[in-house]
Amino acid sequence: MWSNARDVAAGDLVIIWQTRELIQPLLITPGKDLNSRFGYYRHADLVGIPYGSKVGSRNGKGFIHVLRPTPELWTMALPHRTQILYLADIAFITSWLDIKRGSSVIEAGTGSGSFSHSVARTIGSVGHLWSYEFHEARANKAREEFSLHGMADIITLTHRNVCKDGFTVEDTVDAVFLDLPAPWDAIEHAKKALKKASPTRICCFSPCMEQVLRTVSALNDSGFTDITMFETLLRPHEVHQLSLQPLTQAVEKLKKLEQKREDKRQHQIARTSKRKRDDLPETDTDNVGGKRLRTQESAEEDVSIRDIPDAVVDPGQSANQPSPIKTSVSKVSPDVRGHTSYLTFARLVPTAPSTIRD
Ligand code: SAM
Repeated sequence: MWSNARDVAAGDLVIIWQTRELIQPLLITPGKDLNSRFGYYRHADLVGIPYGSKVGSRNGKGFIHVLRPTPELWTMALPHRTQILYLADIAFITSWLDIKRGSSVIEAGTGSGSFSHSVARTIGSVGHLWSYEFHEARANKAREEFSLHGMADIITLTHRNVCKDGFTVEDTVDAVFLDLPAPWDAIEHAKKALKKASPTRICCFSPCMEQVLRTVSALNDSGFTDITMFETLLRPHEVHQLSLQPLTQAVEKLKKLEQKREDKRQHQIARTSKRKRDDLPETDTDNVGGKRLRTQESAEEDVSIRDIPDAVVDPGQSANQPSPIKTSVSKVSPDVRGHTSYLTFARLVPTAPSTIRD
């Protein structure tokens, strides 16, 4: 795999982190320069610095971080030749396919090799990944990268149409992952490649429900069981830091909140009895079609993160001593973005040999 040395050396592949959106791989070649909107850097200046260093540009325009590659960083930085799998899906698929150190795995197609890098690290040198790609130029490029990244012994890449010609191994692998436009055409072939003597697993990645349904039918027809479909969605958490505050201050805040609620209750009682006195029908300005309108008062009543009294210090601590201690809380954002595809999983369980009785 990639260099484990503490310091960057000539010939190393490093990851240059400029911003969250600008992350790129760089082969350290003394004599060459890196030019970006964050300044210019000589590769030779990066040789000998520890991985993780922050380096200022030669023309004072900015800085970069020089990082050691990992599969996660490679997924963020790799040159896209196809759509790729991202980390949320990669982690979920790896876990549900039970891929671990020593596993034998098939993937098709290889695409840009995003999933392949993570699998190679997980299975290690005692496992093996058979990867298949029917686009010849993509297959050659990925093979070149696997070799450059020291994964040539872990990954065997074959240029082949797996839907037509199947896989190159039989009764060998623990798991199959299909990221193809027509995975259903490869399911019978996958069954042949999976180990016969132990339970094995398959996952198909499909962008739409029609494809999921065709895949599920094919899995059923081939005798797979436990067919389950998942959608991986990213839900961001907003993390806030709250200062710990003395108990007396927290009590004071709670009392004020309580007082506000009580004032509102009294106000409502007064309004109801006035209505009764005036003999008015049961409508009010904030009640339309049975739905209560969201007034400023009701909005104020919502308990938001700002309303929750900050965490409280030990009651024994002096009330007038400001506490330097902070604590983190998180609020789940209602926005859920990041649908990529549906993941259909299934298992193939060996049938027990029938026992013959006398
Ligand atoms: N999982 C990959 C990654 O994370 O980088 C991306 C795979 S990409 C979406 C799908 C790839 O499957 C393409 O490169 C395509 O050429 C390849 N492909 C499509 N049909 C195929 C087939 N029948 N046999 C082999 N490869 C195929």
